[in-house]
Amino acid sequence: MNSTTDEVPAAPIPLSRKPSGRGGTDAEAVGKTACIRTFGCQMNVHDSDRMRRMIQDAGYAEVQRYEDADLVILNTCYVRENAVDRVKGHLGELNRLRREGRVQRVALTGCIGAAEEARSLRETYNIDLVLGTHNTYELAEFVGLPTMRETYTPELPGTEGEHSAFVTIMTGCNYQCSYCIVPTVRGRMVCRPMESVVGEIEDLVSGGTRYVTLLGQTVDAWRHQGKRFCDLLEAVSEVAPRVWFTTSHPSNMEDRTLRAIGERNTIVKRLHLPVQSGSDRMLKVMHRGYKAERYRRKISVFREAAPEGTLSTDIIVGHPGETEEDHQLTLQLVEDCGFDSAYIFKFSPRRGTEAAELSGFVPDEVVQRRFLEVLRGVEQNAFRRNQRKVGRTEEIFIRHGATEDGKAIGETWSGHAVHVATDAAPGSYVKATIESAGPHVLYARTN
Ligand code: SAM
Ligand code: SF4
Repeated sequence: MNSTTDEVPAAPIPLSRKPSGRGGTDAEAVGKTACIRTFGCQMNVHDSDRMRRMIQDAGYAEVQRYEDADLVILNTCYVRENAVDRVKGHLGELNRLRREGRVQRVALTGCIGAAEEARSLRETYNIDLVLGTHNTYELAEFVGLPTMRETYTPELPGTEGEHSAFVTIMTGCNYQCSYCIVPTVRGRMVCRPMESVVGEIEDLVSGGTRYVTLLGQTVDAWRHQGKRFCDLLEAVSEVAPRVWFTTSHPSNMEDRTLRAIGERNTIVKRLHLPVQSGSDRMLKVMHRGYKAERYRRKISVFREAAPEGTLSTDIIVGHPGETEEDHQLTLQLVEDCGFDSAYIFKFSPRRGTEAAELSGFVPDEVVQRRFLEVLRGVEQNAFRRNQRKVGRTEEIFIRHGATEDGKAIGETWSGHAVHVATDAAPGSYVKATIESAGPHVLYARTN
């Protein structure tokens, strides 16, 4: 269930130029190839989309394998230690390919690029370019484009003409959660003006985008010139045919936003609201700024506003100082909130965060047991809730077209993931009846 540090496959974006063999000699990038590998969250997927546009503009064709690429860009995540280990593995492999003359240049971008550790990685692995999350525009210069300072993160448009697009509405984060490296690598919150966001979405929609996801570390903290997140969401829901947003922070989540999710028919009825722990003591240690009861109250407003909707969360097990009693309180909260899914993380100490210095280490075997207990609680509930969908007919948005097994992947308006046998194109809708359900996905047949 924990998927946010998994490597994300490169998005299958149509390319204007196809790979034309290796070893192009033009001084311009024509004939050159680049491979972008993305690790981490949707913010990183979105940043990779921007870099993809830059390399395309510079005449690079995108390839999927390192050995076919002149330039390799690793766009990375720094949230947990194992994410760094995985990237080191890739850097080692790239060094080998470079020695064999198969890869020319390597760029390290994203959250690891913004961290102090990047300096030693650069030396150890001979990396040509290291960029953080605030200066990705420098990649443009690196690939031979004129300097594009105006492409500074918040203003650069998302992927146009795609059926789905991510739109960044804010960057950075003003919280200081004990365990989290994000504020260090992404900086303080910067919100985009409303007109800029809505204007971008209008352009995307006229270019064919059918599904817009508003992105940010704490999207519901968005505010600009007296407007708050709910105002922005309502404005976006007027111009986009389908909208979702992630991630939200419980302290910023307003009841009116929760009600808007239920009332507005272009908003997907799916809420991702990370809770982290069910224990007030741990929430305080983590500096989350709310108590479990307040979180429960938010959830009851959401369930009332969107009874068929789906609810997901993030939970950390094994944060320093977490006792058995704290863990039981988390299990109780999982039971009470009835999550439809959850990203469950084992605590990972990140250098430079407060939690990395705290005493109260929780042994690995205890962490593993707690992880499985939380997972079981979430899955049992998700399975029960998904069973209620069996026999219903739903309108399903096709996100990914059918693979070899003939099944496409779609999403209901309630935010459930569905496997459905259809050859309908991504971006279209089909009507289908849910035939069976597992804890993570529904299985449907078209009518
Ligand atoms: N801004 C979002 C929020 O506050 O809910 C989440 C951002 S973070 C990239 C995604 C999730 O990773 C967090 O919700 C948390 O559960 C998890 N996480 C962050 N730092 C972690 C750490 N050091 N160890 C384990 N999990 C961590
Ligand atoms: Fe990290 Fe907390 Fe900010 Fe989320 S709210 S990005 S967990 S510091």
